[in-house]
Amino acid sequence: MASLGIPQNTIDVLQKYNFRIQKKYGQNFLIDPNVLTRIVEAAEISKEDCVLEIGPGIGTMTQYLAERAGRVVAVEIDKNLIPILEETLAGYDNVTLINADILKVDIGGIVKEQNQGRPVKVVANLPYYITTPIIMGLFESHVPLQSITVMVQKEVADRMQVGPGTKDYGALSLAVQYYAKPEIVTNVPPNCFIPRPNVGSAVIRLTKYQELPVQVEDEARLFSLIRAAFNQRRKTLVNALSNAPGLGVTKEQAAEALEHLGLSPTVRGEALTLEQFARLTGELPHGRER
Ligand code: SAM
Repeated sequence: MASLGIPQNTIDVLQKYNFRIQKKYGQNFLIDPNVLTRIVEAAEISKEDCVLEIGPGIGTMTQYLAERAGRVVAVEIDKNLIPILEETLAGYDNVTLINADILKVDIGGIVKEQNQGRPVKVVANLPYYITTPIIMGLFESHVPLQSITVMVQKEVADRMQVGPGTKDYGALSLAVQYYAKPEIVTNVPPNCFIPRPNVGSAVIRLTKYQELPVQVEDEARLFSLIRAAFNQRRKTLVNALSNAPGLGVTKEQAAEALEHLGLSPTVRGEALTLEQFARLTGELPHGRER
């Protein structure tokens, strides 16, 4: 089977099936062999690995993955792509195709069935309209996984990777960095896709920590504080926390906690590291929100 990663082959497949690209599913098919190689190399795939691919499209990256992995499980929402995938992946006996919505399917169950519950590697050119729910869903549901190597909108990759004091730093940076070490692999311009997206893209690898970098008694409380801090990012942290409905923190309590941490009473949330947010969670009394 000739590589689909060559533009003409992708066009031929789409024409043969008279396939209508669905914008609502974020369909932008990769047509650059160099980018495909970079992604699978960054994901460090070997025959020992079971790979979960989200949104295989017409199977372009799936072919690259199937060549290197022990097993590939590909979850695709669009039923019109299934006959195409059955043809483009016919030469591989290590690929399992599942026609489902990744946000609704029991990923833990799939991993148990397909990889005996051992950690999988997630590799995908993600649909951009649901990047954050997919990534956070994978982390928060505690699906056994080693790493997530994905193509996302460049701006989202930047937000996942940056630290305090930058404009892109926010709740997503902290949520991702609580679970994983982020590394941007490469930037990818719009002309590497059919059709071209309106935004630049980047490949990011998130390597899951075996041991979390900070310890908190109440994870949900940590994330509530982080969300409150960035919901009102122009405000001081004291004001943002004491104004947040449901948090149950007074101005005085917030100010006292910051003092204990040796932070200025006028500091903003965007200046705090993950470790400082974790310590703040311990310093503040538990609120009404449980
Ligand atoms: N992997 C292919 C490639 O690189 O050329 C296609 C990538 S395209 C950016 C995103 C793919 O995700 C599309 O095939 C789309 O139909 C699929 N998709 C969109 N929403 C999905 C969902 N909720 N669950 C599973 N797949 C989804």
